[in-house]
Amino acid sequence: MIADNLQSIRRNITAVAHRCGRNPEGIRLLAVSKTFPVTDMKEARAAGQFLFGENYIQEAEKKYNELDDQVQLHFIGHLQSNKAHIAARIFRMIETVDRIKLAVALNRYLIQSGRTMDILIQVNIGRDEKKSGIASADSEDLLKNILSLSNLRPLGLMTIPPFSEDPEKSRPYFRELRQLAENLQSKNLFFDNKCVELSMGMSHDYPIAIEEGATLIRVGTAIFGDRS
Ligand SMILES: *Cc1c(COP(=O)(O)O)cnc(C)c1O
Repeated sequence: MIADNLQSIRRNITAVAHRCGRNPEGIRLLAVSKTFPVTDMKEARAAGQFLFGENYIQEAEKKYNELDDQVQLHFIGHLQSNKAHIAARIFRMIETVDRIKLAVALNRYLIQSGRTMDILIQVNIGRDEKKSGIASADSEDLLKNILSLSNLRPLGLMTIPPFSEDPEKSRPYFRELRQLAENLQSKNLFFDNKCVELSMGMSHDYPIAIEEGATLIRVGTAIFGDRS
C-alpha cells in the first residue's frame, strides 16, 4: 500500500515536472508521517523514502530513536522555544521558523552542540489569523536578523495556504510565496542564493505547487492514508 502510493506520487511528480519544463530532481518529497506509527515509516523507508516530516516533538523524538541514521526528519509543526534543544538534536531541517526568539534559542543550542541547522522561514501567506508563520512584510527583517546567527542556515520559505477543496485556489498563494522568495533572494538574504528552497503543496495541491516552483512538497494522506 504505502509502497504503491509512493510510487504513484513519484511518477506524478515526474510527469508534472516534465509538463511544466522542470527537472524532477529539483523536487523533493517529504513524507508527512505525523500520527502514523514508526512501522509505517519503516515501510516507506524500505520503498526508498528517506525524508519524513513530523509535527510534534515528543512523537518525533520517539520515532527518531527507532529509525536508522539514513533517515532525515524535517520539523513542520509549531515549535516552542523551550523545545528548541530537542529539535536542534533530532531534525535535519526546521521548516517553521517564524520569530527571532525561536531562531535565537535554536542557535544557542546549536552552538553548544557544535552543529549547524538548515531552516526555512514559515510565511503566513494567506494572512490567516489562526495560522502561525510570519507576515510577508516582516520576513525581510527576520532574515536580516538571522544572518547574524552563526549556526543557522536559512535556505528558503515554507507556507501552508488556507485550505480549499479546490486545489486551484492554492495557486495564487504559492505564486506569492515564490515571488517573495525571489525578492529576498535578490537581497542576498539566504544561505545559498543560487538555490532557494520553497516548501509548499500537500496531498491535494502538490501538482499545483510544483507548477509554481516548489522544491519540497509535504505529502501525508496520499502516502499513509487518512489520519483518524
Ligand atoms: C499534516 C501536514 C501536511 C500533510 O498534509 P496532507 O494533507 O496529509 O498531505 C503538510 N504540511 C504540514 C505543515 C502539515 O501539518
